[in-house]
Amino acid sequence: MTIHLLNCFTCNARFNDWKTGLLCLLVETNQGLALVDTGLGLDDYSDPTWFTRFFRVIMEMPFDPQEAAVNRIRQLGYQPEDVRHIILTHMHFDHCGGLPDFPWATVHVHRREYQAFVHGPHLFNELAYVPRHIARVKEWALYDHTGEKWYDFDAIRLPFEPETWLLPLPGHTRGQSGVAIKTSTGWHLHVGDAGVDIEHNQAPDWVIRAGLGPHWPRLRTFAQTHPEIILTASHMFLEFFAKNASAPEERSSQREL
Ligand SMILES: [Zn+2]
Repeated sequence: MTIHLLNCFTCNARFNDWKTGLLCLLVETNQGLALVDTGLGLDDYSDPTWFTRFFRVIMEMPFDPQEAAVNRIRQLGYQPEDVRHIILTHMHFDHCGGLPDFPWATVHVHRREYQAFVHGPHLFNELAYVPRHIARVKEWALYDHTGEKWYDFDAIRLPFEPETWLLPLPGHTRGQSGVAIKTSTGWHLHVGDAGVDIEHNQAPDWVIRAGLGPHWPRLRTFAQTHPEIILTASHMFLEFFAKNASAPEERSSQREL
């Protein structure tokens, strides 16, 4: 079983050395490929929304469509149609902009996130929900928490092998969730926008809490005390992708598990 680690949206700060990519996981499952988050989609490059244009002003980004998940996946030798499932940590533009490039895929997301998206925006950061991103989705799988646990975390079992759990970690958005995937050596816990790059982050906890919600100290301690856990967040520093790259000329990275 392989989890490919893809940078599907490079987005750098203009005035400091905060240089990150948007981590998407491409997982080989018993139901075909499952993609965790999408980054921007091809339409975002060819016809940017006002929000993406605004983001390009405040952030520095190569804005290269070769970073779109659909192209990353081709670079790995797969066909886009091989992606049968998309699991979303949440529905901000930089996490689900690629949905229109995979209209055949079933989209899995926490119900509260979906509802915030379709009924919003009510909160300032819900301006990052872009209605056209879901226009081509034919099938949703929406989840509510039913009392199950993964370790000590509230969790929802997803219908895949390897064993996969959705972990509600609300705060950054109402339905923001992590995704835990069983590997041969333990677990890969991807916390989405509930946390940061554990190795490279230098922001203090109060800044993280203000932007990403209350979960980071617990997640960090959990990873530090469980060596079987590989912890990633959505916005990983470019050093992470460089370190994990097995084929840098393909601008992608992967980790054999
Ligand atoms: Zn977000």
